[in-house]
Amino acid sequence: MNIQNYINGQYTNPISNEWIDNYNPSNGEIYGQIPNSSKDDVEAAYKAAKSAFKQWSQTPIEERSRIMLRISELIEANLERLAEAESKDNGKPLWLAKAVDIPRASSNFRFFANAITQFASESHESVGLNAVNYTLRQPIGVVGCISPWNLPLYLFSWKIAPAIAAGNCVVAKPSEVTPMTAYLLGEICTKAGLPNGVLNIVHGLGGSTGQAIVEHSDIKAISFTGGTTTGAHIARVAAPMFKKLSLELGGKNPNIIFADCDYEDMLTTTIRSSFGNQGQICLCGSRIFVEKSIYEQFKTDFVNVIKNQKVGHPMAEETKIGALVSKPHLEKVLNYVEIAKEEGGKVLYGGHKLTIEGHENGYYMEPTIIEVSTDECRVNQEEIFGPVVTIMPFETEEEVLAMANKVNYGLSATIWTNDLKRTMRMTKELQAGIVWVNTWLMRDLRTPFGGVKDSGVGREGGFEALRFFTEPKNVCIKY
Ligand code: NDP
Repeated sequence: MNIQNYINGQYTNPISNEWIDNYNPSNGEIYGQIPNSSKDDVEAAYKAAKSAFKQWSQTPIEERSRIMLRISELIEANLERLAEAESKDNGKPLWLAKAVDIPRASSNFRFFANAITQFASESHESVGLNAVNYTLRQPIGVVGCISPWNLPLYLFSWKIAPAIAAGNCVVAKPSEVTPMTAYLLGEICTKAGLPNGVLNIVHGLGGSTGQAIVEHSDIKAISFTGGTTTGAHIARVAAPMFKKLSLELGGKNPNIIFADCDYEDMLTTTIRSSFGNQGQICLCGSRIFVEKSIYEQFKTDFVNVIKNQKVGHPMAEETKIGALVSKPHLEKVLNYVEIAKEEGGKVLYGGHKLTIEGHENGYYMEPTIIEVSTDECRVNQEEIFGPVVTIMPFETEEEVLAMANKVNYGLSATIWTNDLKRTMRMTKELQAGIVWVNTWLMRDLRTPFGGVKDSGVGREGGFEALRFFTEPKNVCIKY
């Protein structure tokens, strides 16, 4: 199936008529093609966005909100179709796309449809000076949204929804590896009555299509989620043009387990935080540190539970872990297992590519647990972004805190403990944008979302996102 760009409310072929193959990770087969969009397509998308901007930015907030609620409802109504598309494109289990990805995409539109009606700005009376100041929060104009492949529609809509709620028009690019649900979103937006040109979706390669969005002199803000190296590159291009930038980048998050935690709860959640979505979530707790007194017990239990996590075809009901997103990614992740062995790591479970009967060319891999003797080894420092975790014991709070913080990343951290004083001490000291205590990936969309250090710049979520997508202007009136 060939998918098309969505520009000015119309599905169109790329101007150059060049196409890229789209692979199904579950069987390694090409099942369609996507536009290899050039600068010209990005320019066409920009022009459509620009001409829609005046009217959209003046559209009453209630009307914008009503259209976005309709988009949210239509995503819900198309749950099956979108979930199947997401699972086929990405390799994730169908049940996961149905339970998490698509419902969350719907929530993103609903959340920002409501949030915009509550988004207010401040005014200040300059007492004694006969003046009043107020802050106008105006949309930026045409903004660029670029998203990765791990949670395709979930992260794509997480950017687009606040951008259009705030009155901007958007040129957006999903990952070339997972374009399908972004493609389907176009028709949903048209059905919901989103005016032509408010959202434009161009497909293509990061280095050309994505780069053209970032380099466009009149696209004044870029919201990017993806790898740290790409983020650094984008920052280098955008900074001299003084663009507003939001960068949500990689993570290498610690999962710190103390002996006084609720053990069963911790074990169940740790399975999810290690291998959920094949370990391809920026928030996965891929470095597990366990207090020495329960280390051996945890190791045994963790391995025993993992043994029963079925790796299989994404559409099969019993599948817990699906296929990795692409062949190069599978190879990269497998290579890290070799690196771990060379560094002296001990593979406690997994480590191999898997062949699933009937789908022999799919990109499957065993969930993998590597015991490391030092936190400074590469597998403990570099983002692997697959079903691979490291584990090691610790003795003191100070020791584990130092190891948790001794990485370049700072996205999220998880602590398992019932000690309130320790919780309060550690949450302050952990270098991360998000800290979960006795839970993982529990999200409230009003909270600030993002990382510190090499995990990014800026925050998404709630009013933070609406602030990013608006420019504050101070108006001072003397009377
Ligand atoms: P990439 O950085 O490779 O790509 C992200 C997006 O940027 C894709 O759409 C990609 O296009 C595009 N892109 C690539 N090069 C450029 C460029 N020069 N200019 C503009 N756009 C470009 O990341 P992945 O897709 O591999 O995603 C995985 C990464 O995303 C991981 O590091 C993960 O941690 C991070 N991530 C961070 C999250 C967060 O909130 N902090 C959440 C989820 C993931 P194409 O795919 O076509 O190359």
